[in-house]
Amino acid sequence: MLIDTHAHLDDPRFAGDFDAMLSRARGAGLVAIVGVGASAASSLSTLDLARRHPAILKATAGIHPNHAAQEPSDAWDRILQLANEADVVGIGETGLDRHWQDTPFPMQEDFFARHLALSRSLQKPIVIHCREAEIDVLRMLRDEFDRHGPILGVMHSFAGDRAFAEANVAMGLHISLSGILTYKNADSIRDAAKAVPAERLMVETDCPYLPPTPHRGKRNEPAYVALTAAKLAEVVGRSEAEIGELTTANAKRLFAL
Ligand SMILES: [Zn+2]
Repeated sequence: MLIDTHAHLDDPRFAGDFDAMLSRARGAGLVAIVGVGASAASSLSTLDLARRHPAILKATAGIHPNHAAQEPSDAWDRILQLANEADVVGIGETGLDRHWQDTPFPMQEDFFARHLALSRSLQKPIVIHCREAEIDVLRMLRDEFDRHGPILGVMHSFAGDRAFAEANVAMGLHISLSGILTYKNADSIRDAAKAVPAERLMVETDCPYLPPTPHRGKRNEPAYVALTAAKLAEVVGRSEAEIGELTTANAKRLFAL
């Protein structure tokens, strides 16, 4: 039993074999897939997909930090509307990114703050992206935590170190591991995963990106989350069945699935 907590299902790379991709996911033991919106348009198309496959797909609504600058002027109003829909189970993906220069940093901070407030007001979990911006993400999360208490949400495709994981967990967040966990050079991420309490661990693909070993260089898809879960089991010294059960229970609880 597994849940892929982060998949970009509206990506055109899935258009050609969407139903086959879903049956491979079911075959790999997936009971749910959280489709993640990265813009107003992609949040809407992800919600449409969730409505067409209600037994297995859910959606989030949000604007990725790298897309914020290209969004039309009514994009945030559309996110506010979508966020209220019952099939929208989370807010994001949002966060901060210093790797790409697609959106001016103050604008990224503004959008991250809006998503935090929306998540809190709706009590739907926030889905956070952090790339080379750990200090800034922690600063904004700490501000939110100091004012309002524990933060409902997830640090997705975790790529930080043990101290970053511990700081996130202390503020209430879940940690979701992607295919990066299987990469040869990811010792610090595997070390960080060991520091996460069992009740805060989740797994994801972030597909079509970040395929786990041995699928690197190919399109990632939800079924491959099983490889990340198997690696996580090895890293934390539990059976694959236990990891499947506990990460599934954690995802169900966080996203109210
Ligand atoms: Zn993503």
